[in-house]
Amino acid sequence: MKQQKKEPLKSQFNFPVWYILIAAFVIMSLSSYLFNPVVGNISYSEFKRLVKDGRVESCQITSSLVKGTLRGDDLRSEKQKTFVTARVDDPELVKELEAQGVKYSGNYENTWLQQFLFAWIIPIGIFFLIWRFVFKKMGGPTGSIMSFGKSKGRIYAQEDLKFSFDDVAGIDEAKEELQEVVEFLKTPHKFTNLGGRIPKGVLLVGAPGTGKTLLAKAVAGEAGVPFFSISGSEFVEMFVGVGASRVRDMFSQAAQKAPCIIFIDELDAIGKTRGSNPVGGHDEREQTLNQLLVEMDGFDANTGVIIMSATNRPETLDPALLRPGRFDRQVVVDRPDLNGREAILVIHSKGVKLDKNVNLKSIAAMTPGFVGADLANIINEAALLAARRNKDTVGMSEIEEAIERVMAGLEKKKRIISKQEKEIVAYHECGHALVASTLKTTDKVKKISIIPRGIAALGYTLQLPTEDRYMMTRVELTERICVLLGGRIAEEIIFSEVSTGAQNDLEKASEIARRMVKYYGMSEKLGVITFEPENKPAFLGWGMGSNREYSEETAREIDMEVKKIIDDVYAKTREILEEQKPMLIKLSMILMEKEVIEGEELKKILNGELEEKTDATRVN
Ligand code: ADP
Ligand code: MG
Ligand code: ZN
Repeated sequence: MKQQKKEPLKSQFNFPVWYILIAAFVIMSLSSYLFNPVVGNISYSEFKRLVKDGRVESCQITSSLVKGTLRGDDLRSEKQKTFVTARVDDPELVKELEAQGVKYSGNYENTWLQQFLFAWIIPIGIFFLIWRFVFKKMGGPTGSIMSFGKSKGRIYAQEDLKFSFDDVAGIDEAKEELQEVVEFLKTPHKFTNLGGRIPKGVLLVGAPGTGKTLLAKAVAGEAGVPFFSISGSEFVEMFVGVGASRVRDMFSQAAQKAPCIIFIDELDAIGKTRGSNPVGGHDEREQTLNQLLVEMDGFDANTGVIIMSATNRPETLDPALLRPGRFDRQVVVDRPDLNGREAILVIHSKGVKLDKNVNLKSIAAMTPGFVGADLANIINEAALLAARRNKDTVGMSEIEEAIERVMAGLEKKKRIISKQEKEIVAYHECGHALVASTLKTTDKVKKISIIPRGIAALGYTLQLPTEDRYMMTRVELTERICVLLGGRIAEEIIFSEVSTGAQNDLEKASEIARRMVKYYGMSEKLGVITFEPENKPAFLGWGMGSNREYSEETAREIDMEVKKIIDDVYAKTREILEEQKPMLIKLSMILMEKEVIEGEELKKILNGELEEKTDATRVN
């Protein structure tokens, strides 16, 4: 990879704080010289003697000094005309001065300079220093006051990126989707001649470390086009307008280099929903975001510039970013499954001398939920460990230790599921899937996965509707509840115990049952009555039971009816799963091993077509 070139940044004009300090010092000494032109320093006793002798003409008594002039006829030399002495606590002084007829003035002190200095110059100097310090930290090597508006304005393209799709493994679906982008960048006219519209923006969505940045670089490498990259967090600077001007700059440069890729990493840093900040909002971020939207709208995708972006928090993005013509194509970058992890390990252990006994497959099996970056980290850690132990090759023991280390680091950040949890999750998901496949009206199961994603979901069963639904029958609704309860019931059947993992399912199930009773009039006992208009405005405190349109008694009956529906469904679902317990066990075994089962595969397993080599003898 070619290093990004940075503009040599020379301060445009230096304004060292020392100038100010030296100037202040010079002014100070100059003024004290001017105000007290010729001063003889005398002792207090001498001063008293002079007063007694009547040789003092006048004096000023300040809080710390006594300054005065001698009588004109008594000039011993020009230097002695004025004198100054330290003031001593002397209550008799005034009397003596009176007696001698000396003009004296009290506490007059010309301190404007000191005051000015202390009240203004020094505080301003201190602020100035702090300010400079902060900017030095923020602005990296720039160090000059005026240059930070432009300093990072220029972004250089990286060319000849050495990454290709071969460097990316385990995320084949994402790679496939991006293949089209590569084709387009390679031969844009082939597409535009046919009048096709090319995607402008591609948003890569996935957990940190799944390889989004790597993938974007690989696309540029595969297509052999320049790669402009900038990270969203870099935009968020202190001064308004900097981010926006950088966006503008980047797009104008990219237009000259087309075909090319603009990659905005960590889009969420600038792309957060506008006005979401309760404390007044971040003007800079909004301006940058607006500029980005303007630029994206303003250029023609057929010029060959493709904007790629990555985020791990798509839900926080401003909806305007996801509109057609902007980041309208989204590519999910998943956590790798077992085979994917093995493939990633193979890539990263290429340059590492592995011992013969190292089995990458078993390492992949030990690391469910790990992402590409974690796996790369493991290999690296293991190599370092081996080097520290003066070994010639990296053995299994080093790798295992590295896994433990990486895992310990991860445990703080996210959940790594234990083997037992994994088993529970597998049965739970298979429960959903099995019920869904058994019932007639339910949506087809597309995928079962126990690869954890996010904090909430440990696994998931993805059902795809086969057609668009505008209406659902009572049977369909109850069967939907069946599927939701299936997970929990499978856990009960296998472990005679339940976990907290089903909470979300139960919530959804109760919600459907409640709707059946309250909105759709599907309860025999309560009859065909809607108890609440469905889309009641939900203001704060509004509609929270306070303005119910039915009595306490009816409320109780509604609850009873909801419970009855759930109970009925529960019994039915339990029956289904009890009946298919052997299949449940078999399916869960396969799922535990593979972590993901696709729809087609599931069908085969259920039809008994796929005789797995798993030992189905192991029960619980
Ligand atoms: P993200 O941008 O999604 O947070 P990165 O692309 O920065 O993740 O990944 C960090 C590093 O982890 C990569 O440089 C690469 O070495 C490794 N890595 C991550 N995912 C993969 C993958 N799918 N295949 C190979 N290496 C990967
Ligand atoms: Mg990244
Ligand atoms: Zn569930």
